[in-house]
Amino acid sequence: MSIEPIQYPKMIKELRDNFDRGLTRSLGWRRAQLDALERMLRENEKRIAEALAADLAKPDQEVYLGELSLLFSEIRHARRQLRRWTRPRRVHTPLVGQPGRSWVQPEPLGVVLILGAWNYPVQLVLSPLIPALAAGNCAVIKPSEIASATSALMAELIPGYLDKAAVRVVEGAVEETTELLKQRFDHVFYTGGAHVGRIVMRAAAEHLTPVTLELGGKSPCVIDEGADLASAARRLTWGKCLNAGQTCIAPDYVLVTRDQRDALVSAISDELDDMYGKDRLKSSDYAKIINRRHFDRLLGYLKDGEITIGGRSDEESCRIEPTVLTGVDADSDIMREEIFGPLLPIIEVDSLEEAIAFVRQRDKPLAAYLFTRSRVSERLFVESISTGNVCINDVLMFMSVPELPFGGVGMSGMGQYHGKAGFDRFSHLKAVMKRSRFPEIPIRFPPYTDLKMRLLRWVG
Ligand code: NAD
Repeated sequence: MSIEPIQYPKMIKELRDNFDRGLTRSLGWRRAQLDALERMLRENEKRIAEALAADLAKPDQEVYLGELSLLFSEIRHARRQLRRWTRPRRVHTPLVGQPGRSWVQPEPLGVVLILGAWNYPVQLVLSPLIPALAAGNCAVIKPSEIASATSALMAELIPGYLDKAAVRVVEGAVEETTELLKQRFDHVFYTGGAHVGRIVMRAAAEHLTPVTLELGGKSPCVIDEGADLASAARRLTWGKCLNAGQTCIAPDYVLVTRDQRDALVSAISDELDDMYGKDRLKSSDYAKIINRRHFDRLLGYLKDGEITIGGRSDEESCRIEPTVLTGVDADSDIMREEIFGPLLPIIEVDSLEEAIAFVRQRDKPLAAYLFTRSRVSERLFVESISTGNVCINDVLMFMSVPELPFGGVGMSGMGQYHGKAGFDRFSHLKAVMKRSRFPEIPIRFPPYTDLKMRLLRWVG
């Protein structure tokens, strides 16, 4: 039964009371929740795939690759590292603090709110839930209403597996989220677009609640002079077409040196034939666009360039062919907004330096990709571009490394998670110092003298 807005204050009070009486503190409880979450995913793989097929026509392999396998790996990693992460972390105590010991002691925050987006509707609510539970918090989860079948399934499954005294699922859209955001949480973790990100941050400011904003942006993909075009085309095409381009870290557009452009376009065309055949709109390996609004929004971008590959669409099944656009103006709509669909503008540049300047003139992206054979180019790219994540010679794959923090910078978001970064995100890193009672070195106490001052300068 869904939880109504009128019940939110009571629900949060119950969670807070349970947190305060220490329900979530023991490592045993935390491990049991992680185990239960894994069991939930394994026992319901088929139902999850069905819900994602209903919402996005997500192919089973993409369900595994883009949602489940990432969660399994995060759960495994958290379970293995839990003891190490929760342990006090010793730090050096300088002479002025001697004799004494200092350490950082992670403690859970309390009751956190997790707001998910629709494009990876399982992964985006559960990936933050894993570190939230590992760090010993209670959580309220609000999946995106736009992926409605998956939202309903999460609301049904989670109470059957996780401790209801600590984890609750709320379903709903703007009205419900607005009401939820009026409540006081100890952290709000939001994934979605920047517009709502601002609303979330404003609401959180009322309670001085810290926020994590996992936003999007235009992630560039740069093809360096002399890059392995066949490999670049294959990986880039896969990354753009996965979930029909509705991936926050999908390569948004390509910057390629002029003389390589035609070869790249032709290699992408070959890859599309290999991956999806000639009738790509009918391929069962290709997801649909989430809804009519996004379908129309994406078709609106087709005017912004010359359609070099694809361009067809099917309104009934809400599918748009993987489409490559050339001759795109850098100031057109498609280059101003995040595309979030299977359209790929290819823009020509003269050099890697020009490509880097192009990226730097725009908002900081969530991810940046470079295909190159040159170590010099690689270093220049990594050092010159401020972005959430970088991947050299591939796209998206950094997501498979739990020890790499994930999150944006500037307009692509604030705060990182995954692995230890996630655990720390949902913890307060409490600073503790313990002084020895003896000996008492009196140099800091009045009456102040020249000798004490000299000693102070020497130790401090
Ligand atoms: P969405 O429409 O599902 O919205 C996200 C959440 O915000 C939902 O839970 C929704 O209910 C809530 N919401 C919507 N309107 C609201 C309002 N007025 N007040 C309060 N809450 C509201 O998702 P979206 O915004 O379409 O998501 C797409 C964006 O998310 C893209 O920019 C994409 O790049 C980004 N994204 C980022 C990541 C990441 O990990 N950084 C992952 C996925 C998507």
